[in-house]
Amino acid sequence: MSASPHNFAQRHLGPRPADVEQMLQKLGCESLEDLLAAVVPADIRLPRSLNLPEPCSEAEALAELRAIAHQNQILRSYLGQGYANCLTPPVIQRNILENPGWYTAYTPYQAEIAQGRLEALLNFQTMVSDLTGLEIANASLLDEATAAAEAMTLSLAVAKSKSQTYFVAHNCHPQTIAVVQTRAAALGIEVLVADLLQFDFQTPIFGLLLQYPATDGTIADYRSVIEQAHAQGAIATVACDLLALTLLTPPGEFGADIAVGNSQRFGVPLGYGGPHAAFFATKEAYKRQIPGRIVGVSKDAQGQPALRLALQTREQHIRRDKATSNICTAQVLLAVVAGFYAVYHGAEGLTAIARQVRRQTQILAEELQSLGFKIPQQPGFDTLIVEVEDPKVWQSRTEAAGFNLRCLSDRQLGISLDETTTDSDLLDLLTVFAQGRSLPAWEDLQAAVTDEVDPAFARQTPFLTHPVFQQYHSETELLRYIHRLQSRDLSLTTAMIPLGSCTMKLNATAEMLPISWPEFNQIHPFAPLSQTQGYQQLFQQLESWLAEITGFAAVSLQPNAGSQGEYAGLLVIQRYHQSRGEDHRQICLIPQSAHGTNPASAVMAGMKVVPIACDDRGNIDVSDLQQKAAQYADQLAALMVTYPSTHGVFEEAIAEICAIVHQQGGQVYLDGANLNAQVGLCQPAQFGADVCHLNLHKTFCIPHGGGGPGVGPIGVAAHLAPFLPSHPLVPEANADPQALGPIAAAPWGSASILPISWMYIRMMGAAGLTQASAIAILNANYIATRLAPYYPILYRGDRGFVAHECILDLRPLKRTAGIEVEDVAKRLMDYGFHAPTMSWPVLGTLMVEPTESESLAELDRFCEAMIGIYHEVDAIASGDLDPLDNPLKHAPHPADVLLQSDWNRAYSREQAAYPAPWTREHKFWPVVSRIDNAYGDRNLVCSCLPMSAYSDR
Ligand SMILES: *Cc1c(COP(=O)(O)O)cnc(C)c1O
Repeated sequence: MSASPHNFAQRHLGPRPADVEQMLQKLGCESLEDLLAAVVPADIRLPRSLNLPEPCSEAEALAELRAIAHQNQILRSYLGQGYANCLTPPVIQRNILENPGWYTAYTPYQAEIAQGRLEALLNFQTMVSDLTGLEIANASLLDEATAAAEAMTLSLAVAKSKSQTYFVAHNCHPQTIAVVQTRAAALGIEVLVADLLQFDFQTPIFGLLLQYPATDGTIADYRSVIEQAHAQGAIATVACDLLALTLLTPPGEFGADIAVGNSQRFGVPLGYGGPHAAFFATKEAYKRQIPGRIVGVSKDAQGQPALRLALQTREQHIRRDKATSNICTAQVLLAVVAGFYAVYHGAEGLTAIARQVRRQTQILAEELQSLGFKIPQQPGFDTLIVEVEDPKVWQSRTEAAGFNLRCLSDRQLGISLDETTTDSDLLDLLTVFAQGRSLPAWEDLQAAVTDEVDPAFARQTPFLTHPVFQQYHSETELLRYIHRLQSRDLSLTTAMIPLGSCTMKLNATAEMLPISWPEFNQIHPFAPLSQTQGYQQLFQQLESWLAEITGFAAVSLQPNAGSQGEYAGLLVIQRYHQSRGEDHRQICLIPQSAHGTNPASAVMAGMKVVPIACDDRGNIDVSDLQQKAAQYADQLAALMVTYPSTHGVFEEAIAEICAIVHQQGGQVYLDGANLNAQVGLCQPAQFGADVCHLNLHKTFCIPHGGGGPGVGPIGVAAHLAPFLPSHPLVPEANADPQALGPIAAAPWGSASILPISWMYIRMMGAAGLTQASAIAILNANYIATRLAPYYPILYRGDRGFVAHECILDLRPLKRTAGIEVEDVAKRLMDYGFHAPTMSWPVLGTLMVEPTESESLAELDRFCEAMIGIYHEVDAIASGDLDPLDNPLKHAPHPADVLLQSDWNRAYSREQAAYPAPWTREHKFWPVVSRIDNAYGDRNLVCSCLPMSAYSDR
C-alpha cells in the first residue's frame, strides 16, 4: 500500500503497518498471506485481483463524483405520489443528518446507552400516533409501499373474515398498489384493485387499503365503507399524508384500524426515492402483530422512567418461520429527522405549512379555471388535477420552464405542491399555462380562496400537545436538545461497537459528504430519466463494481435492507423455477444457525422452511443436508446459507454444499451479511451461489443510523437476471417481460445513500478492499487469541483460526459465578464500550466483530475491558465479591446512583465508575441504570410520558 498522505485505505484501516507485524507475530503467522491461506479454503480463493478502477484520494473521488452529480438536473418536481419536496431545517441537517454522533449509532438494543435516540424515536411515535389518531405507532418501516404490504399481512393475520381477497382502492399511489400485488402473489392472496365507489361489498374481503388524500388529490368520506368492511370482519388500512392530517380528520377517528404512510415531507430530502421513514400506526389490540420495532417506556433499577425497545423478544423475524414480517433494519435516522422536524415546528408551525400548501393549491386551481382549464374536482389538500387535450405536450412545456408535472391519464395532468413552493413558482407555472394570456393580480387570487376546510373533513382534535413539541422552537433550544440527546448515546465517535454480523466499520466523512449535495438529494424518484443521467451513471458503475466483487452477472439496487434483499432474491428464484414449469419447488432449506430474517423471508415468499442441522463445530451438517436435499428433491427451491457462517467460520465444504443443492434442482441463496470477510478473497458466484444480497450498511460503509437506513442489493447469476425486480412507473429499472414486480416503492430504493458505497469502493480500489478483508480477519483473530485464555472461542476453522468475527463462550461464567451474558454486556458500558452481539447465534455467548477500521490500541482497550470483567467474575467465583451485590449485577452505573450519599454497596464507587484507566481520562456516562424490560412489556406505553413522570428527577 502506498504511503502517500492522501492514500485513503491507510485512513480506513485501523492498524498501522508496524502493528500488523506485531499482531501477526502474536498469531504465529509469517505474513498476512500466511494468515489468509490458513483461513480461506484454498478451493474457493480468488486467484486474481478484482477488476476495479485504481484507487484514488478523497479529493479525487469527490471531484469525480461531483462531475457525475452535475449530470442530474434539479427541477421543481410537483409529481406527488407520496413524495413532496420540503425544507430540512439547517439545524437538523447539520446536527443530525450530517452528525456522526447520530448516524454512526447502532440499533438501540443496549438501551441504557441509547436513551437519546430512543427519546427521539418516542417523539416520532407520539407524532405519528397523534396525527393519525391511532393508539400505537412503530419507530418506522422502510417505505410507504412496503408499509402498506405489511398492513395487508397484519390484516390477514388478525381479521375475523376468512376471505383471501384484499381490496385496494384504485386511487392509491401506483407504486403502492404494485408492491402490495407482488407481496400478495407470493402468499396466494387475491388483490382486487377497483374503484371504491363502485364496490358493493358482495365479494368477501379480509381487508382494504385506501389512500387519504387519494393519489389524485381527492378526499372522500370513508366512514361508511369502513363500517361495511368491519361488518364483514375485515381490517381497514388508510395510507395517509402526515402534513394533510394537521388539517383533516385523522384516520383513527373515522374507523381505520391501521394507518401507514411516508414521513419524508417532514424534513427529509427527496433523495431520488429514499431513504425515508415510513410509519405504521394501529390499535392497541394489534400491538403484538406490529411489524418492526416499537420504543416503549419502562423503568430502570432505580424506578426512574427509562426507554427501550418494547416487546423486544417478539421482534417479528425472531419468530423465524412463524413470523409475518421479516423487517430488521428500518429507517431510524430518518424517523429521528422527521420527529425533530415536528419538535422544531410544533403543531402550529406544521399547521401553518399545511395551510400554505393548501392555499397555494387552491389558488392554482382557481387560476387555471379562470384560464379556461377544467379542474374536475376541488383539490382536497396539495394535489389538483387539470384536464388538458394532450398532457405529454403540456408536460414538455412545463419541463422547459423548470417543472415536472405528473401525467395521470391521456387527458389529465396532476400537480402536487409542497412546503418549498413559492408564489413566484406559481406565477412561473401559470405563465406556462397562460400561453401568452395575462394573469390576474396576485391579490385578487389571494382573495378568491378560503382557509376553511370543509367541515365534513376538518380536523377537530388537537395534536402534538406534549411539551416536547412546544419547548424547542428557538434554534438555541433545539440545538441544545439535539446535543443533550446525542450525549446519551454511545456511537462510533466514542468507542468501537464490536457487533458480530453487523460490521460497524468506519463511515468516512468523505463518503458522507455527497449525500447532502442537492444534485443527489433534491430529486423526485419519478423525475424523467433524462434529468437523472448522473444517477444512472452512478447506478451503472456501482452495479458493475458489486457484480465484479461478488462474481455475479447482474445486480438490483432496489431492496432497502438485507431482509428485503433476501425476500427479493427468493422471489427471483421462485420465478426462475416457474419459468421452467417447476412451480412445485417451494421448499427452502435453512441451517439452524441462520439469522431470523432468513426463515421469515422464506415464509413471506410463500415457501416452506425445512431446517438443516449444524454439527458440533458449528458447520452445516453436510450429511443432514444431503439427506434433506434428496428427500425433498422434487420440491427443493433453495438453500439459504450465510458465508462465512453466522458462527464466524469459513466452512471448508461450501462448494460441496452448493453442489448438493444444485444436483437436486435447487438454487443457492447466499446471505451476504458477512461479505466483509470475502471481498477480494473469494466470490460467492464462483463457489456456487446463485443469488446473494449485500448489506451496503455493513460491508460498504453506509452508516447504521441507529437502526437504519440500509441498502440490501442482490447480485444474481445470468440465468436469474431477467427476473430481477421491476417498477411500474420506471420501466428502465428492469424492462424484461419476465421481471418480478417491485419490492420497494422507489425503482432504485434508497438511491441517495448509494454515493457512500460508491465513494468507498472508488477510493479503496481492488488492493484496498482486499487489504480491508485481510485486516478484518487479522483483527478478529487477534481478539480471539488475546481473549482465548479467559473466554473459550466457541468455533474455529480447521486450522484453528476464525474468519472476521469470533464467538466468546460466556456460559462457564454462569456456572462459576452466576453471571449472565447480559451482566457482562451492561458492565461493558461502565468501561465505555458497547457490547458485542449478545446470545446470537448461540445463547449465552458474545459475538465480536472488530472490523478492519479499529486500531490495535482500540482492540487492546476492548480486550483489557473484557479481561477486567473476567477478573471481576473470578472475584465473585472465589467469594471476594458478593454474588448479588457486585459491579456486574448492578451495571451500568449512572452518576446519580454513584453520587447517592448513602452508598452502601459491597464494592467501591471507584470500582464501579472507573474500572479501567482510560475511564478517568474520558468517561462515557450511561444516564440510566439497568432497565426492566418485563415491566415495560406488561405496562406498554409507546408515546411521550407526561412531564410529571420525570418531576422527581
Ligand atoms: C444484518 C443481517 C441480516 C438482515 O439485514 P437487515 O439489513 O437488517 O435487514 C440478515 N442476515 C444476517 C446474517 C445479518 O447479519
